[in-house]
Amino acid sequence: MTGEEKSMITPPPYMFMECLKNHAAAIGGSAKDGCGEFMAGGEEGTLEAFNCAACVCHQNFHRKVKVPQQVRGGAKKRFRTKFTKDQKEKMRRFAHKTGWKIYNAEDAEVRSFCEEIGVSKKVLKVWMHNHKGNNLPTAAA
Ligand SMILES: [Zn+2]
Ligand SMILES: [Zn+2]
Repeated sequence: MTGEEKSMITPPPYMFMECLKNHAAAIGGSAKDGCGEFMAGGEEGTLEAFNCAACVCHQNFHRKVKVPQQVRGGAKKRFRTKFTKDQKEKMRRFAHKTGWKIYNAEDAEVRSFCEEIGVSKKVLKVWMHNHKGNNLPTAAA
């Protein structure tokens, strides 16, 4: 059993949506930063994980919503990222290039790569975590 892998994809009981911090409170106005969803700014268990990667505000400033329980019978699909063959191949190549450590790549490089293939950095990181060690050369497709 690979318990570690499982814990990586277990959804948290709460999600943090748009940022509600009023950045203009000091001058009596109202201005939000427009952040639509909290994204952890660091690894789980670190202090950075509580600061939003997008707007840098603390997690508590973001609207907290309870993640609905899985509905039995398949009315709601469990969230799971599906990758196309093309995406997988690109991620595999990217991972290979960085030695299967996302930290080895420039932040800007990671960002543009993610934009190009349409996955989030977090998803890419998890994918690399789950697939390192499977770094076998693929037969030419
Ligand atoms: Zn935010
Ligand atoms: Zn914010």
